[in-house]
Formats: sequence, structure tokens, C-alpha cells
Amino acid sequence: MKILLTAAATLLFPYIAFGQSFRALNQQVQQGGVLVLRVAPQWQGPQVSIAVFAKHYLPNRYGDVYIGIDKSIVPGKHIATLVEYGRGIRLSWDYEEIEVVDKNLPSRTRRPFVPNKKWERERETIRQAFDGGDYFEKYFNGEFVRPLDRAVIDQNRTIGDESSPFGTNHNGVDLITLDPKTRRHKRPVKAINSGKIALIARNYSTDGNMMIIDHGSGIFSVYMHLSRFLVSKVGQTVKKGDVVAMSGDTGSARTRPSCKNCGPHLHCSVKIRSKDGKSDVYVDPLAFIETMNRIF
Ligand SMILES: [Zn+2]
Repeated sequence: MKILLTAAATLLFPYIAFGQSFRALNQQVQQGGVLVLRVAPQWQGPQVSIAVFAKHYLPNRYGDVYIGIDKSIVPGKHIATLVEYGRGIRLSWDYEEIEVVDKNLPSRTRRPFVPNKKWERERETIRQAFDGGDYFEKYFNGEFVRPLDRAVIDQNRTIGDESSPFGTNHNGVDLITLDPKTRRHKRPVKAINSGKIALIARNYSTDGNMMIIDHGSGIFSVYMHLSRFLVSKVGQTVKKGDVVAMSGDTGSARTRPSCKNCGPHLHCSVKIRSKDGKSDVYVDPLAFIETMNRIF
């Protein structure tokens, strides 16, 4: 069908319908995952965007588009097309069929939280850090790495493994840092890929000491409950695998007798946002790493 349409379009519109204009690097994507599309070089330009999920996504300067898939995107088949940014005019007859697969993301119950002034100020600072990201650049390269080195403690626990999964009301994963025998928990935290420090935040309400790294192209990694920062300033460049902090138990990870799930851990999130910010999605960081390493 697609070949026929392309052939018909080539006859009718020979100048705008030559061959493939873009492609999906993963045509099937789960909720909580990342969709990657690549615009062909001859189509790359300032006006080109991908239209899908009723939004427009600009490619980075290499023609790549990263889209976070959240629960608002209905499972099933979706059509992606190439359109002129801002006006929505279709630029080619090429299209890609994307399949979004339903994922039963676990749901975490939250204690009632009443926002206060400090919390609101913190959210504003975090928002500005994301706004300041370098959308068109791409700082990451090659494989993504996990933020913690894995080390087996006993048959039940491995440092770096997930203790609380990504899901509704939990926009990242919690990774084990605590050895219950020795009570040691401060572990080196690695940048999951190269990037620029976008935020160093101290003693935030629930996040504790938090760091955000801008990997470019709308992709950010977030690390929470840190005990110590090993980078000095925002804007600093880090390389994949660099130890950027030590894990800890700050913010809501502070051990409290009333809280069963508290205690030292590393919370790690990956956020993907479009240039216009209309798509602003936390994805499952471990699924993100797996997908990126599979398709590149
Ligand atoms: Zn968490």
C-alpha cells in the first residue's frame, strides 16, 4: 500500500515525493519508552518537523527526533508524517506507521502533599534548567551506561538494581545503594552519557541534593538524594561514565521510622521534551537505556 501511494505520488508530484523522507528507528514502542525518528539528509532544514500524536517535533541538527511516550498516548497504530513546522503543511507523501504498546505501569500511592512557597520556587528553578537545554545539539554518543556499578551483596540484593520501578506517581527508578550488613550506601554515581550540567540543587524538598544533566536533543538525566556533588558548576561538560556525585539519603530518602520505603537509594529519571515543551515526558530510564543501546 505504502509503495503504491509513494509511486502514485511520485508520478503526480515528482519534486516533492522522491523516496523516503524519514524513518522510525523503532516502529514499535511501549508506553514509558522512547520513539526515535530520523529525517533523511535531503529533507533536513529549519522548517522540517515530524507530526505524530497530534504534536509537532523538531529534529536536532543531525535530523534525529526523540519522543517520550507517556500514558496519554493511546495504544495502537499512529501515523507520523513530515510537515512544515509552524504551518503543518505536509512536505512529502512518505509516512511511517508507529505502534504504541500498552504497558501496565505500576502505580505508587503518594502521601498527601501540600505545595509550599519553597517547593514552588524549586519547581521553577527545575523548569528553567530544562528550558535551558540545548535542543538542537547532541552531546550523547554510543551506548548509555547505568548510573551505578553493580555489585552483588547477597542473593536478594545487587547494588544498582531497581528497588522501585518507574510508573504512575514515580517518574524514575530507585536503585539500590544500601548494603544492609555494613549500612554503607554512598556509591559513585555516573553520568549515563556525555552532556552538560544543567542543575546542581541542594536540599530540595523531596529530591534532596539533585543533579540534572542535559544530553542535548531534549534528553535529560536526573539524579536525586545525593550526598555529595563531584562537579562544580552548571554548564560544565561531563563525559559518559564520569563520576558526577555520590549517592545518599537526602530529601525523601532520609530514613524515617514512620516510612517503610524510605532510606538511602539513587533515584534516576530520564526526561524527554520537545523544542516547544508541549511534549514533556519522563520515560522509564532503564527501558530508555535498553532501547537506545539496541537501535544505535
Ligand atoms: Zn524514586
